Amino acid sequence: MTDTIVTRFAPSPTGYLHIGGARTALFNWLYARHTGGKMLLRIEDTDRERSTDAATAAILDGLTWLGLHWEGEPISQFGRAERHRDVGEELVRLGKAYYCYASQAELEEMREKARAEGRPPRYDGRWRDRDPSEAPAGVKPVIRIKAPREGETIVRDRVQGDVRFPNKDLDDFIILRSDGTPTYMHAVVVDDHDMGVTHIIRGDDHLTNAARQTVIYDAMGWEVPVMAHIPLIHGADGAKLSKRHGALGVEAYRAMGYLPAALRNYLVRLGWSHGDDEVMSLDDMIRWFDVDDINKGAARFDFQKLEALNGLYMRKMDDAELLDAFIVTLPYLPGGDEILKRLTDDRKAQLLAAMPGLKERAKTLVELADGAGFLFAERPLPMDEKAAALLDANGRSVLAGAHAALEGTQEPWSAASTEAAVRAFATEKGLKLGAVAQPLRAALTGKATSPGVFDVLAVLGRDESLGRIRDKID
Ligand code: GLU
Repeated sequence: MTDTIVTRFAPSPTGYLHIGGARTALFNWLYARHTGGKMLLRIEDTDRERSTDAATAAILDGLTWLGLHWEGEPISQFGRAERHRDVGEELVRLGKAYYCYASQAELEEMREKARAEGRPPRYDGRWRDRDPSEAPAGVKPVIRIKAPREGETIVRDRVQGDVRFPNKDLDDFIILRSDGTPTYMHAVVVDDHDMGVTHIIRGDDHLTNAARQTVIYDAMGWEVPVMAHIPLIHGADGAKLSKRHGALGVEAYRAMGYLPAALRNYLVRLGWSHGDDEVMSLDDMIRWFDVDDINKGAARFDFQKLEALNGLYMRKMDDAELLDAFIVTLPYLPGGDEILKRLTDDRKAQLLAAMPGLKERAKTLVELADGAGFLFAERPLPMDEKAAALLDANGRSVLAGAHAALEGTQEPWSAASTEAAVRAFATEKGLKLGAVAQPLRAALTGKATSPGVFDVLAVLGRDESLGRIRDKID
């Protein structure tokens, strides 16, 4: 039996869960699910100045919205400071780390010298073998790790392959500051070890950290977890991801009306693929996802593709299910609160009835809200510019005739019966169907585009339809 796979997502709570972080979390979650393991969540909140509770809440909310569940309670890195200190001191006892009393002025001098000699600024190891009895009085020391000086440190990465770091480039970096707080490098290693993390899947901006972290693992005699550093996400033009390209928090995607399932499907394909499969169910994703199939090249974020995929998800979703998804998203959509206020049971029923026509024309929930706007409009309806143009004198006179025809229909009110009445009227007047349908649409919805006009008539019902049409006749 193999040991359980443990992955982790380790965001710094200094802002929202951004789209790159969401993809990292998704990969960790999928790999855990794929292997029957678990994903843990660690909040890297040691930077007290920049970490906020609001950001932590936003990250948890974003993960939950995407359906990425972590096991157990989120772990606060800051809450583990004592353990970080203990391990730092243990490394000193083991002779793998040492107290360094170098002053700021000394460090500055070292940097200057390195610069002058064209070397990267590195600590020169002056306290590495010095007797602690030489420590200057009243100086609080930092703890530095004794990094190997010869040979190389190899990060055996599942995505990048073996990445070699010459040890001469790794200096004796600080693991505990003089106030006893851990550096990021140290805290991550201690936490990953204590949490039993077997696989570290994270952005490749952490690859050089992996070399330094390996030094700490080795010093403690701990096994280095499997590493998988995934390429960053770039914009559609290949440039570094900026706000314009989509470097936004996941909450922004919710507000833009994307479905979590569609966003998940879009994100999984950024840097990972399974043949040519573009659209995949969650079960397929879990079954197929493997770290070894992560691509080495940077992925490109393309809003148009995301939008097309979202539209596809909406169309194939069951109407009632889509309605539920729409309703729970309303508080986050622009103008959604207004819709929510007017969302009576009758309106819900109308929305459900209109859904087949609405979802054909919407790629996002924002577009769905826009398309459904006519249901929530109050008489007399405001007309947009195009609708107003359709209701010129001629349009209004056609409308008057259509009103009479519809009012006279003896059949029960439905898409079919209203269509029959309007067709008969058009034929009688020698008009094309569109010449009648367009002014009707304008009067009924205030717009020049909408779901099929007979569906609109059916959904609105007889009284509301005739009322709206009457409002626009002289
Ligand atoms: N807290 C780091 C970040 O948000 C991640 C550290 C890690 O995954 O090791 O970039």
